Amino acid sequence: MFSCDKCGLCCIGLDKSEVTADLHNGDGICKYLDLDTMLCRIYEERPIFCNIERYYEELLKDKMEKEDFLRLNYEACEAKKKEWEECGRNIRKMISKIPEMDEDNERILRDSLEKVEQMDKL
Ligand code: SF4
Ligand code: SF4
Repeated sequence: MFSCDKCGLCCIGLDKSEVTADLHNGDGICKYLDLDTMLCRIYEERPIFCNIERYYEELLKDKMEKEDFLRLNYEACEAKKKEWEECGRNIRKMISKIPEMDEDNERILRDSLEKVEQMDKL
């Protein structure tokens, strides 16, 4: 059984793949992702490519060992988390390097950082 910590990171950055094109409105964030909780609002009916267990059972069972498939998915989750940590570091760096920032830009950056930190805690 795949163990997911519900970070929601696989539900953002969807603009990198054609397969998920219908799930977002150009910003790469899934339209079904609840941004307050980072949980899927259609979890029980989510597409097959969002459902690791079902994807394996229906499409890969005869082609590879489940253990290998799960390992690949865990590696993908780790890569997403590293990418997100890097994003948080870059925002912190930007804030520290602009001593007299325009109020609107500062608010935008702080809001982004707050979101990154909020997701770090999930
Ligand atoms: S990135 Fe991995 S751990 Fe995070 S929600 Fe997606 S499947 Fe779960
Ligand atoms: S449908 Fe649900 S699980 Fe799939 S990307 Fe969107 S929010 Fe994530």
